[in-house]
Amino acid sequence: MTLSVHLFPYLADNYGYLLRDEASGKVACVDAGEADAVLNALKQTGWQLDELWITHWHPDHTDGMDELRQQTGCHVIGPGYKGGRALSFDKTVQGGDQLTFGTQEVHILHTPGHTLDMVNFYLPRAAAVFTGDTLFAMGCGRLFEGTPEQMYQSMEQLRALPPETEVYGGHEYTQANARFALSVDPENSALQARAAQVDKMRAAGLPTMPTAMQAEFETNPFLRYGDARIRAHLGLENASDAAVFAEIRSRKDRF
Ligand SMILES: [Zn+2]
Repeated sequence: MTLSVHLFPYLADNYGYLLRDEASGKVACVDAGEADAVLNALKQTGWQLDELWITHWHPDHTDGMDELRQQTGCHVIGPGYKGGRALSFDKTVQGGDQLTFGTQEVHILHTPGHTLDMVNFYLPRAAAVFTGDTLFAMGCGRLFEGTPEQMYQSMEQLRALPPETEVYGGHEYTQANARFALSVDPENSALQARAAQVDKMRAAGLPTMPTAMQAEFETNPFLRYGDARIRAHLGLENASDAAVFAEIRSRKDRF
C-alpha cells in the first residue's frame, strides 16, 4: 500500500479523507467542512497535516479551511476557477495540472457540473481518485451551476480512469442512489446485488465509500448512458450519450 486513507464522517452525511503517502509520511486532507472533524481525525491517526486539498467552494467542504490552516499551518490547495464565495488558497490548480505529494503524482481533473469550480484529485500510483461532489457510489452530484453537457463531459473524464481505481466521494448518498438507479436500470443483476449489499452495510453502520470504478461502470446509471437496456427503458435508443445522461440526471432530480 503506497497510500493510506482514513475516512471520517462529518455533518449529516459528508465524508472527509486524510491521506498519508507511506514512503514520505506526507499527509493531506481532502475538504474541510468542519475543522473539528479534521482535527479529531488527525488526533486519532496521530498524523500531522501538511496539505489541505479543496474540491469546490460549497460551505460543507470549506467552512473549516481557515481554522485548519491556523491550527496546523497546512498548505491549502484549491480550484483555480471562480467559485461562489471568496476563499484564499495558498496554491490554485486547474484541470491538467500535476502536483507532487511525497512519492505520489497528483493529477488534477476539472469536473464542472455540480459547481463550475470543481476539481478532483487523481493519484495514479495509488489508484485512487477523490471526486468531491462529482461522482458518488451509484450517483453523481446535483447540477447547481453547470449544464448537463458539462457534467456529461466530467463523467467522460472519470470513465476514462482504470477500472481498479478506488473512488472516494464526498457524501454518503448510496442507499438513495441505489433506489433511483434501480428505477432506470431495473433488470441489472449487478445493481440489484449491490443495492442489497449496501442496505446491509448501512444497517451495520458502515460507510459505503470508497467504491471501485469497475463497480461504478457496472451499476452507476450516470456512467452507463451507453447501455442498451437503460436506453430502451428511457425510450432513447438513438439519442446521443449526452442526451441520455441529461435525461437520467433530470429524472433523478424529480425522483
Ligand atoms: Zn457540493
